[in-house]
Amino acid sequence: MSSNTQLLHNALDQGQGILRLAPNWVPRSFCIPGRRIKLHPDDYYALGGERGGIDERWFSSTTPAENGPLTGEHEGLSQVVFEDQQVTLREAVSELKDQLIGERLWKEHESWPMYSKFFDNKGPLPHHIHHRDHHAALTGQKGKPEAHFFPPQVNNYPADIQVTYFGFAPGVTKEEVRECLVNFTKGDNKITNLSQAYRLEVGTGWDIPPGILHAPGTLCTYEPQRASDVYAMYQSVAGTAVVPEELLWKDTPKDRIGDIDWLMEVIDWELNVDPNFRQNHHMYPKPVRPVEEMEAEGYRENWICYRSEAYSAKELTVLPGQTVTIKDGGAYGMIMMQGHGTMGVWDIETPALIRYGQLTHDEYFVSERAAREGVTITNPSKSDPIVMLKHFGPKNPDLKL
Ligand SMILES: [Zn+2]
Repeated sequence: MSSNTQLLHNALDQGQGILRLAPNWVPRSFCIPGRRIKLHPDDYYALGGERGGIDERWFSSTTPAENGPLTGEHEGLSQVVFEDQQVTLREAVSELKDQLIGERLWKEHESWPMYSKFFDNKGPLPHHIHHRDHHAALTGQKGKPEAHFFPPQVNNYPADIQVTYFGFAPGVTKEEVRECLVNFTKGDNKITNLSQAYRLEVGTGWDIPPGILHAPGTLCTYEPQRASDVYAMYQSVAGTAVVPEELLWKDTPKDRIGDIDWLMEVIDWELNVDPNFRQNHHMYPKPVRPVEEMEAEGYRENWICYRSEAYSAKELTVLPGQTVTIKDGGAYGMIMMQGHGTMGVWDIETPALIRYGQLTHDEYFVSERAAREGVTITNPSKSDPIVMLKHFGPKNPDLKL
């Protein structure tokens, strides 16, 4: 039992099954912030130039950020706020166990195995890949599926590049890809010349199973993903950024470093050259129930990420002047995108500007029990909807894949 056991039980009781979380900002030394995640303009470099700009905010995270030797003690880990104290969500999950995440997830994972984030980058990312389970296992990790959704509330401007490259164009040969990988250290290896770009549409998203190369564009992105940081960068120059060779070999077992065949094996070839890639991976929002029925009750809810077993996500809109009780089959984290009101015993609001280190009332974690009993949300505004995004753990019982 940790010294925080009593505090965490009190926090769960007083929140009636809902924990309040603190904003969890993450810098990246290799990125330039797109400045759309509501940090005060003076605070995007609050951690100092060496740490890089803050271009991510992580949600419901029990996963530490891997940011090299200068990484802060709790970087990447969400904090539960109770009165004037903070405890990591990671500790909350290990103390409260099934009481927080439910028996099904606790038995299977003994952890909260996903997190979500805002990714807010001014420039494009290199064509990179997340390993599948069997490749990740060789370095003691798990494979990483991820999803991208582009919320309208944080996308008034698209920054530098409004397209994402996925996989390779049908007809590209393995020899051509191999050649690019051999050329990684000889300047720009031009691997995206072999790829296809898709224009990004606000309010929609993409599903990216592990093994698929992707070079994300620069819309501000809400990204539910499995709790794993496994990846390798296959493009040597992205925009104006040069990618160090160590990132090509990141998460390669020691005895395969330098072996191009390994890099080729990590690629799920069929998925990368799928001629129906868009059809199979693009996600338009899907209503959870018939829209008229939901609107008659004062809300609208859409599945926004629904093609993976590892996580799922919904966008909930509560119409002005309405009070609704929403039930879900599993625990979830949420972030406010628009509006204000109450959720259970908590105030919920959407700040326009947040100082680094300031607390908010825009992010919570809802226990499975509270989710099943139903969460009551009231929107007192006469004009403004409440909009929130909700991220769920693996195998959401309400989601039929
Ligand atoms: Zn990725």
